[in-house]
Amino acid sequence: MPKLPYRSWVEISRRQIADNFAAIRTTVGDGVEVMPVVKADAYRHGAAEVSRVLKSAGARWLAVSCVEEGIALREAGIGGRILIMAGFLAGEREALVDHNLTPVVHSLAGIRELDRLGAARECVIDYHLKIDSGMGRLGTRAEITEIIDTVRQARAARVEALMTHFASASSFDRPQTGRQMARFNEVTSAFHAVGLEPAYTHLAASAPIVYGIRETWGNMVRPGLAIYGYVSPASGPAPPLLPRIAPVLEWKAAILEIKHLPAGSDIGYDALFRTGRRTRVGVVAAGYGDGVPHQLSNRGKVLAAGRLVPIIGAVSMDVITVDLTTVPELGVGDAVRLIGRDRGLVLDAQDIATTAGTISYSVLCGISSRVKRIYR
Ligand SMILES: *Cc1c(COP(=O)(O)O)cnc(C)c1O
Repeated sequence: MPKLPYRSWVEISRRQIADNFAAIRTTVGDGVEVMPVVKADAYRHGAAEVSRVLKSAGARWLAVSCVEEGIALREAGIGGRILIMAGFLAGEREALVDHNLTPVVHSLAGIRELDRLGAARECVIDYHLKIDSGMGRLGTRAEITEIIDTVRQARAARVEALMTHFASASSFDRPQTGRQMARFNEVTSAFHAVGLEPAYTHLAASAPIVYGIRETWGNMVRPGLAIYGYVSPASGPAPPLLPRIAPVLEWKAAILEIKHLPAGSDIGYDALFRTGRRTRVGVVAAGYGDGVPHQLSNRGKVLAAGRLVPIIGAVSMDVITVDLTTVPELGVGDAVRLIGRDRGLVLDAQDIATTAGTISYSVLCGISSRVKRIYR
């Protein structure tokens, strides 16, 4: 019986992270800075290690959501530029300066506050200004003239980039992205007209990169999901996918127990499943406490020795039960894959998301801290 390292773990390929980053760089070309997004613990791939890999692959910028994530990277020894994208609390402003983090500012009041902070600390604080071009979330919707006045009045806060974010970038059957671009272009044109030339313009997360919407690339892009090897499924007439990327992470879990149950046996909470034949049941060491969506109850699959076998019964907190009748070669102490590739068969986070009625982001971010990480 092989000895497994953990009950449940993910194996992360450093080389695939670097390859995905390189594929995106090649796609957008030399004139466009690629700023990988490592928020939410690098979509649960581990922000510190993923950032190290990306830095050594040549990334000059990284993006996270919040100040706490930025500080964690600094404490892990990550240098270079780090953009804080999802706002910060008043009490976190000083830490931005202390840790050399670059904030995205979402309001004119935010520019003025940063300017006061820069004056008090006797330094110049570079910021990226986010325009709400129609998503209705973070970003300023102020009049263009007001924006320009506020940017110009600031002495100790300096606009380094204009940015926006798309709401429906993989929906090619809706006009929203075009409208957002038009609004954003009005703002950038007005800046240029008065001689304000921020160093960067960035709009694109993964979808407009992988679907090749070049008009959105500006001179910087912010891929998150694509770095981890995934693409959101498109709706409408999508262009062909450009870069060759592949998933970075495999998720495995140990078989804790094997039992043979006769036909007519109930399995798990609420007896959601009843065996129709004599069944070889594998009890596998991952449940919703590890991030297996509860919606996979009686619906999901796992990869067992190169075969897809069904999850039978409810997903419980610590375990799932799977039908291993057709996989006699696997027993206690072997592992199955919840996400991965085996003998040509693939089961990925998008497959799980489709079955569970959610998105691949949520499946990846849902992998809990109980699941250990191994880097290859
Ligand atoms: C999360 C995020 C990204 C990355 O999005 P992906 O779809 O994962 O590539 C880019 N920009 C902003 C503002 C984000 O919040």
